[in-house]
Amino acid sequence: MEVFWYIYIFVTGLVLGSFYNVAGLRLPKGESLVHPRSHCPACGYTLGAWELIPVVSFVLQRGRCRKCGTSISPVYPFFELLSGLLFVLSYHTIGFSWELLAALLFVSMLLIITVSDLSEKIIPDKVLLFFVVPLALLRLTAAPLDPWWDAFLGGAAGFVLLLLVAVVSKGGVGGGDIKLYGVVGLLLGLSGMFLSLFLAAAAGLVIGLIGMKTKGWGRKTEVPFGPFIALGAVTVYFAGETLIELYASWIQALVMFVFL
Ligand SMILES: [Zn+2]
Repeated sequence: MEVFWYIYIFVTGLVLGSFYNVAGLRLPKGESLVHPRSHCPACGYTLGAWELIPVVSFVLQRGRCRKCGTSISPVYPFFELLSGLLFVLSYHTIGFSWELLAALLFVSMLLIITVSDLSEKIIPDKVLLFFVVPLALLRLTAAPLDPWWDAFLGGAAGFVLLLLVAVVSKGGVGGGDIKLYGVVGLLLGLSGMFLSLFLAAAAGLVIGLIGMKTKGWGRKTEVPFGPFIALGAVTVYFAGETLIELYASWIQALVMFVFL
């Protein structure tokens, strides 16, 4: 029976992931989620039911539009697959509880804002508002952190911290990033929020340096920070405790090495 749940949750993640692609691409442009129906961006051909099956249709069509042969971006199946895997990881780590609902809402929000920030460099308020309400309610009632106010402290601190970063960096992070960090703090609590910001900044720095070396990015290159926030937040949500333990044991090893 256990296998059944894994498959069910994976498939749900795939199907929702394909919707998150659409939401992430259309919401920042102010377009409707349902109209027009999914179509080939090159020839306008409306996709049939069989062509809407996540990942599978991409593989069967070898990544091309059936009508005009234009290649379809592998970004679509990538995010569908990522969504399915994050759903399974959530269930595997948490099992059936209210926290699972919080986790699924959280990864869903992060997937949508990653797509929209990558495509349009916008984190839509609509998306954040849609998710922050149930997440705050869960943290207040059925899925609290310990102590319960840690979530709200983390959320407030995340918001203020990113606001300060925005002021200091003069536009390095945008309004969407600031609001997003409020939600991240709500899920992770104060210490998790700090750790995730450290990871996001470190990942951003590494990618930034690689971009400068290989793609000639300069000071003016706008790199969306949302995907890095999502990466840091997901890492801490699922592996935060392990990371902190690792860090503590490294420090311990370092201290022993220096003093003995
Ligand atoms: Zn086409």
